[in-house]
Amino acid sequence: MIPQETVARILDSADIVDVISDFVSLKRRGANYAACCPFHNEKTPSFYVFPSSGRYKCFGCGKGGSAIGFVMEHESMTYPEALRYLAKKYGIEIVEKEESAEQIAQRNHNESLYIVSDFAHKFFVQSLSSKEGRDIGYQYFRSRGLEDETIQKYGLGWAPRDRGAFPAAALSQGYKKEFLIETGLCAEYDGKLVCRFYDRVVFPFRSVSGRIVGFGARTLRSDYSKIGIGKYVNSSDSEIYHKKETLYGIWFAKSEISRKDRCYMVEGYLDVLSMHQLGITNVVASSGTSLTLQQIHMVRKFTRNMTIMYDGDSAGIHAAIRGLGMVLKEGMTVRIVLLPDGDDPDSFARAHTLAEVQDYISSNEKDFISFKTDLLLGEVGDDPIRRADLINDIADTIALIPDAIQRSVYVQSTAATFEMDQQVLFSRIQQTREKMAEDDRKAAERQKRSSLNQSSQGSGAPQESPYDAPPPPSYEDIPFDDYNPMAGDPIYVEGEPIQETPAETIPSQGQDTSHRTVFENPFVAPFERDLLSFILNDGCSRMCFESDSDFYDFSRQSTVAEFIDGALEGDPFLNSLYRRTYDEYFKMYNVFDIDMVGEEDAARHQVEMIKTLMDSPDREMADMVAGMTMEKYSLTVENFRRSMTSNSTRLVQEVPKAILAYHKTMIRQMNRDFIEQMKNVSYEEQKAFLAKIDRLNRKRKQILERIGWVN
Ligand SMILES: [Zn+2]
Repeated sequence: MIPQETVARILDSADIVDVISDFVSLKRRGANYAACCPFHNEKTPSFYVFPSSGRYKCFGCGKGGSAIGFVMEHESMTYPEALRYLAKKYGIEIVEKEESAEQIAQRNHNESLYIVSDFAHKFFVQSLSSKEGRDIGYQYFRSRGLEDETIQKYGLGWAPRDRGAFPAAALSQGYKKEFLIETGLCAEYDGKLVCRFYDRVVFPFRSVSGRIVGFGARTLRSDYSKIGIGKYVNSSDSEIYHKKETLYGIWFAKSEISRKDRCYMVEGYLDVLSMHQLGITNVVASSGTSLTLQQIHMVRKFTRNMTIMYDGDSAGIHAAIRGLGMVLKEGMTVRIVLLPDGDDPDSFARAHTLAEVQDYISSNEKDFISFKTDLLLGEVGDDPIRRADLINDIADTIALIPDAIQRSVYVQSTAATFEMDQQVLFSRIQQTREKMAEDDRKAAERQKRSSLNQSSQGSGAPQESPYDAPPPPSYEDIPFDDYNPMAGDPIYVEGEPIQETPAETIPSQGQDTSHRTVFENPFVAPFERDLLSFILNDGCSRMCFESDSDFYDFSRQSTVAEFIDGALEGDPFLNSLYRRTYDEYFKMYNVFDIDMVGEEDAARHQVEMIKTLMDSPDREMADMVAGMTMEKYSLTVENFRRSMTSNSTRLVQEVPKAILAYHKTMIRQMNRDFIEQMKNVSYEEQKAFLAKIDRLNRKRKQILERIGWVN
C-alpha cells in the first residue's frame, strides 16, 4: 500500500502539461494549451489544458479533470496504478507498507503461474514453426484467412502431437511440476506428466493488462468425437485465470473500445481475429460462456455501449437475448446486429471489405429493446393475451435499466409502438423495480447470513483489497504497459451468478470495478440513486411548472436540487456513498446565489461542481459521479431522445415521480424497521418513529395530490 505522504508528493509533483504531453501533442494558446481531444474524434481542437489550475477540459465531449484523472482515463488505469505511473515518471520512490508473510507468498505464487504461462506461450509459438506445426497448425490458420501478421500479433501457436514434449521442455528449464498442473497446462496420466493441449492449435488468452493467463486449444482432427476427445480444451480456472472474467481479445481491443466508445461482442476466437484483421478492432469474444457479470464489468471500464453480433440463423436468438437483461441492469446500452443468414462474424468479415462491414453494421444495428419488441411482436400477432404478456415482458426489461431518464425514453417509444398509455407502463415498471429491490434485499440478507455462518466456522479468508496489492518484484525489463501490479488479484467475487451477488456490495454505476461499494441499505439504494442522478445531471436547472400546477411558485422557480432537497426535509440518504456525495454537492451549491446568475452561468456552475466531485480524493465518490453524469451523454437512441418532450417538461414530470418512489420505499422500509425494533426501543423512540412515518406519509400524499398521479 502506498503511504499517504507519498501519494501527496506524487500529486504535487505531477505537472499537468508535462503529463499530458506524453500522450498528446499540445499547442500553446496564450497561457493555456490546446489539442485535438484524445477521448473523442475531432478535427479542430476543443481539448484544453490549463496549467494555472492544473486541469484539463474537453469542450467537445466534456471530459476533464486533474493530471492523475487524465492518466487514469487515458491509460485505463486504476488510481493506485496511475499513482505508480506518475511516481516512476517523477522518480519518486514508493516505499510500500510492509506485507505479511502470507501476502508475499501469495504474490510469489501468482507470479510463478504467470511465468509458467509465459513459457508455455513461447513454446507453442515456436512449435508452430516446426514441421508438424507448419503442416497442420499454420496451414489451418492460413486456410481460415489469417495473415502471418495476425498469427504473430495474437500469438497463435501449436501444441505438438507428442504429449510429453511440452512437459519435458518445461521441466528441463526448471519449471516446477506443481505449477504446470495448477495452470492446467499439464495433467498427470499413468504416472507421467502430459500436455493437456497436445495435437491442437492454441489461442492464448491475455488479461486486460496483457499478460498471458491461459489458453484455448482446438483439435483439427475430424475424428475427434470417435476417439473420444473434445473439440476444444481450455485452461482450467487457476489463481491467474478465471474463465468468467476473461474476454478473448480484450488486450488488443481495449483502447479502440474506449476511443470508439463501443464494444462489439462476438462468439469465437476466429470471429475476433477476422474482424481485427479487417480493421475493426473494438471486438471481443466471451468465448464459450454466455456473457457473465464480470465480463460486463470489464467492458464497462472502457465503454457503456455494447453491440452484440449474432449469426444469421435465428434459432438461438431467443435464448441469446434472454441473458441481455443483465447488461441493461449494469447501466449499459445494448444494440444487436443480426448478420445475414448463414454468416457468422468470421465468414462475414472475410467475405466483405471494411467499408461494407461497417456499412452493414451501421444500417442494421438496432437497440435491444426495439429489437426484442419487433422480434416478439412478429410472433404474437393480434392475440390480445399474448400481446399483453409481451407488453409486460418489455416493461420488465425496461425496469432493469438503472437510469430513470433512459427508462422514460423507452417508455415513450414502447407506448407509441403499442399505442397505449405511458402511465400503465410506468406503473408496471414501478412494481417490477420494487420487486427487484425487495429481491436484492433478500439476497443481501441471505448473503449476510451465509457469511456469518462462514466466519463462525473460521473459514473466512481475508479478502485482499486491490489497493493493498503490492507490485511484482522487479519488472525493469518489460515495457511499462505490461506493468500491472493488480494483475491476477481477485477483483471480482469469483464465479457467482447474478442473483447471488452480495447485494451489500453491488458495484455502483460507472464505478471503477476495482473497488466495490458497500450499500448499507440496498433496498433504498436504487431510489436514492435516482434522486442523486437528477441532482448531478440537472441540479441547477429550473423546474418550470405550468402556472396552473400546484407546484407553481409565483416568486421564483426552484431548481431541481432545491426541489429534491425540500422534499427530503433534511432526512439524509441511508447509503453513505450517496449521502457523502449529496452533502458535498450541497456544500458547493449553497455558497453560490443561483438567483443572481443567468441560466448559462448556472449550467457552468453545475459543470464545475461535478468536476470538483470527480477530482475528489474520495475515489469511490469520484467514480460514481463520473458514471452517473456520463449517462447523460450515453443515450444512444438518439431518435427516441428527439421525440422526447423538452428537458424542462421532463424534469417537471420525472423529478416528482422519483421523489414519490423514494418516499414510498422509505415508508415501507420504516414500517419494516418499526416492526422489528418495536420491542427494543423506548416509548419516546417509538413515538418519534411513528411521527416520522406519519410525516413521510403526509408528504407523499401531498405530492400525489399535486401531480394528480395515483398508483
Ligand atoms: Zn473530447
